[in-house]
Formats: sequence, C-alpha cells, structure tokens
Amino acid sequence: MQVKRVVLNSRPGKNAEPSPGNFRLEETTLAPDLPDGEVLVRTVYLSVDPYMRCRLNADTGSDYLGPWQLSECLDGGGVGVVESSRCSTHTQGDVVTSFNWPWQTHAVMRGDALQKVDPRLVDGHLSYLLGAVGMPGLTALLGVREKGHVIKGANQTMVVSGAAGACGSLAGQIGRLDGCVRVVGICGSDEKCRVLVEDVGFSAAINYRREDVSAQLQDSCPEGIDVYFDNVGGAVSDAVIAQMNKDGHVILCGQISQYNKDVPYPPPLSDETQKILQSQNITRERFLVLNYMNKTEASLLELSQLVKSSQIKVLETVLNGIENMGNAFCSMMKGGNIGKQIVKISE
Ligand code: NDP
Repeated sequence: MQVKRVVLNSRPGKNAEPSPGNFRLEETTLAPDLPDGEVLVRTVYLSVDPYMRCRLNADTGSDYLGPWQLSECLDGGGVGVVESSRCSTHTQGDVVTSFNWPWQTHAVMRGDALQKVDPRLVDGHLSYLLGAVGMPGLTALLGVREKGHVIKGANQTMVVSGAAGACGSLAGQIGRLDGCVRVVGICGSDEKCRVLVEDVGFSAAINYRREDVSAQLQDSCPEGIDVYFDNVGGAVSDAVIAQMNKDGHVILCGQISQYNKDVPYPPPLSDETQKILQSQNITRERFLVLNYMNKTEASLLELSQLVKSSQIKVLETVLNGIENMGNAFCSMMKGGNIGKQIVKISE
C-alpha cells in the first residue's frame, strides 16, 4: 500500500522560529503482510503541539522527550480507525488513539501501543480526543485542580495567558466552573478576545500585542489576581505576577514565548518577579500532565460530560491534508489557531 508521511527535513536551530521547510512530505510503501500483534490503522486526525518545538532540537533539554531524527517519520498525538488487525484486542472499525502516532496517512502499529476509545465519549467528534477530551483538556483540568487552589465562594480572580489556545480556553472555563468569580484571558488578537468574551464566557480579555497588559489588568481585575494559569511566560507573565494577591498561585503550565530561544525550562525569572513571588508568598510550581496518568481515566470522563452538557465550549482550528502538518505546526506556534490546532488527514 502506498502512503504519504512527513519526515524531519532540517532542524530550525535552538534560537530560531521553525518554518514549514523543516518538514518534508514523502511517499512510502507499507508491506502487505501484517505481523502478529500489529494493526493497520487509517489516520483521521493528527495533533500539533508546542512541546514538539523541543523535539525539533537535537537535544530536547527534557528527560521525557526524545528528539525527532532527520529524515525519519515524525509522530505525536493522533486518532484513527483500525482497518485490519492481527491483535486480539483490536478489530476492524475500532477507534484508537496514541501519543506516538506517526505522521502518516496509514500506519502499521503494535496493538498494545494503541488505546481503544468509545467514540460516544465525544459524540463522534473524534478530533476532540486530541483536544478538550484529550491531552490539552487533561492539562487544563488537572492543572487547575492540582496547582490552582480554586475554592468555591472564595471570590477569586483567575488570569489565563495563551487564553485562546487549546489548554488556555479550557483552563479559563474550568476555573469559572470550579468557582472563580472572574476569569480574564490574555491572547494575541482582537478576534481571539471577542471569542473568549462573547462565545466562551470569559469576564474580559486583553490583546497583549496591542494593549498595555498592566493597565488592562488593573481595569479588569480590580481585586487583584489570585490564580494565574501561565502558558506563555516572559513579559506577559511578569505583568500578571506583579498584580497578584498575597498567597496566590501560579500554575506553571508552559512558557511558549521562550520556546524559540536557547534557554532552559523553565526559563529563569527576573529578580524583580522572583522578589514579588517571595514577598507575596505566591506558589509557582511546575505542572506536567504526564505526572498525573493515574487520574487520566476519571478526568477524561469528567471532560466528556462537561463537553456533552455544553458546560464547556470547544474551540478548534482545522487544516486539511497531511501535506499541511508543517504549516499547521508553524502557524500554531505563531498564534494562527483559535482553540486546538488539528490537522484532518482522512474522513
Ligand atoms: P495553544 O493552542 O495555546 O497554541 C499556542 C499559542 O501560543 C498560540 O496560539 C499563540 O497564541 C501563543 N503564543 C505563541 N507565541 C507566543 C508569545 N511569544 N507570547 C505569548 N503567546 C504566544 O497551545 P497548547 O494549548 O497546546 O499549549 C499551551 C501551553 O501549554 C504551551 O506553553 C505548552 O507548552 C503548554 N502545555 C503544557 C503541558 C503540561 O503538561 N505542562 C501540556 C500541554 C501543553 P496568541 O495568539 O495568543 O499569541
């Protein structure tokens, strides 16, 4: 069988933006005989995620992520359908997912490396398995629950950066459902601000590219900030932390403003911001969704219920075609997405 796949063409270097030229589309042939224990899957949706930026480097700087190799097929979150199986736990037509799905139109994978999913969990919206009812949903839910210290009735204000993205748009909604009285988003366009306030229910939104973030925060958070879901780091986060209340909590989810720079993770804070954290007794603990795998099943069920009952609104940006994987990744890294960036590979 002839299939298309995307391989790593070149590395952008640690101090540069990735470009579509770092990715290359190829054709390859799958052997006709399926080995024992393996299944043939058709790829339906693939995910592009910020963590992939460090996989583009020869040294990822992380002990849980390996680098992608030149001229090898890339991989990440994916969902698809079993077309044939020589594995006792999978049959034709099963919907399956994996965190290590090859960027390939069809693939032969080990059955035990695939998770079987009941499509009713997402009312048939299979792309949600890569977003609101997948890793970004878990990151938002568990990030808020494990590190946010949100208490119903405590009159808390939450600020979310990267607020119109996959994790951010969900984190703000979960913060509100869990009891924050005010949820303010920071993001990179007026259209994103409009969507957050009018469609998703944020109390206010700030365009960090155009507005004075400190002044706007003062207006929209008159009682200060208690919880900060930080997706971006850098100057935006310095501005938020400067207005946090005593005993507040920063959920250190990601620092995307620093990912195209050769700095360690998490990047060092300025002395001034460090001083504020200390004097205000603000916690800022690193959060990593992979550390909570024991909570995955129950959390995915909860996310599924929240989505099905429309308590959570799902935002997605979908590009079509495996040839667009590199474009989708580079666009997401520059803010081209509203909600989860997905690539649709087949029907
Ligand atoms: P998003 O859907 O939020 O997409 C990335 C967004 O980052 C873009 O849309 C863009 O939005 C924003 N961005 C890009 N550059 C900058 C910049 N210089 N300053 C501010 N914002 C910028 O991605 P995800 O929801 O998948 O990931 C969000 C964050 O969560 C990332 O930092 C990621 O690493 C982290 N993460 C952490 C996990 C964990 O376990 N800790 C798990 C999953 C994700 P805009 O238009 O607003 O600039």
